[in-house]
Amino acid sequence: MKTNLLFTMLLSVFISPNSFAKSSTHLDAHVHGLSELTVILEDKTLDIELRSPAVNLVGFEYKATSEQEISLVKQAELLLKQHDALFVLPNGQCELKKQNIDISNIVSNKDTHAEHEHEHEHEHEHEHEHAEASHSDVIAHYQFRCAKPLALSQVTVKLFEAFPGIQQVNAMWITATQQNSKTLTANNQIIDLQ
Ligand SMILES: [Zn+2]
Repeated sequence: MKTNLLFTMLLSVFISPNSFAKSSTHLDAHVHGLSELTVILEDKTLDIELRSPAVNLVGFEYKATSEQEISLVKQAELLLKQHDALFVLPNGQCELKKQNIDISNIVSNKDTHAEHEHEHEHEHEHEHEHAEASHSDVIAHYQFRCAKPLALSQVTVKLFEAFPGIQQVNAMWITATQQNSKTLTANNQIIDLQ
C-alpha cells in the first residue's frame, strides 16, 4: 500500500492536472475487461503499475472463500509475480528491484463474516450503484533499475496471454521525453518509448 501511495504522489507530481485531466479520471475507472497500466521512467528507475478489476484476473471480485476461489487467487498472484513474462524490456538492462502484488481486496483476511467487512478499506472510490455487489481491484507494482535507460526502446505488455480476462489495457507512460497514452490489446501490445 505504501508503494502505491508513493506512486500516486509521484504521478501527481508528473501530471499537471490540466494536460492529463482525461487520463487521470481513467486511472480511477473500474471497467470489467479493462485494466490500467502506468509506466514511469525517471533516470534509471522504471516504475510499472498495473491496476485491474479483480474479475479480469480471477473471475470474481469478492473475498475468496472456497478452495477453488483461493487457488484462483494464488494462481493469479503467482502469474503477477512473473514480471519478466508479463513485461518485456529490451535493451535497457533493467533489473527488478521490488514488486508489490496487492490482492488484499480478494483475500479473506478474517474469519468473521460479512457485516463488519471493511468494504471501503481501499482508498479509491467506485461509482457503482449497487451497494451489495462490491467491485474490487488488484494492484501490482513493479520497480526496475535500468542500467541503460536511454536504450530502453519499448515495453511489451504480455498481460493478455497470462490473463484472458484482460481485453484492453489503457496504458499511460511518462519518460524524460514523452508523456503519452494508448490502448493496448492482444494484437497491439507494445508501448514505444522511442
Ligand atoms: Zn467490478
